[in-house]
Amino acid sequence: MNYTCKDCSYRGKTSGQDGSCLACGSFNLARKPVPKENPRSGKVRITLLIGLWIYLIALIIWKLNH
Ligand SMILES: [Zn+2]
Repeated sequence: MNYTCKDCSYRGKTSGQDGSCLACGSFNLARKPVPKENPRSGKVRITLLIGLWIYLIALIIWKLNH
């Protein structure tokens, strides 16, 4: 769980003992679940990036040979 203060945009994993913001003492905190990083989406992104690079390099080599 992550806390985000709406008053001072403090972000942290902990809040004050009474649930207040650690930075400014405001009670205007929003609790947000920690977003889970999808390991598959990261892999797809890297594969796409590598594919794009291979395409670019192939294009450059093709241009040099013609
Ligand atoms: Zn705050």
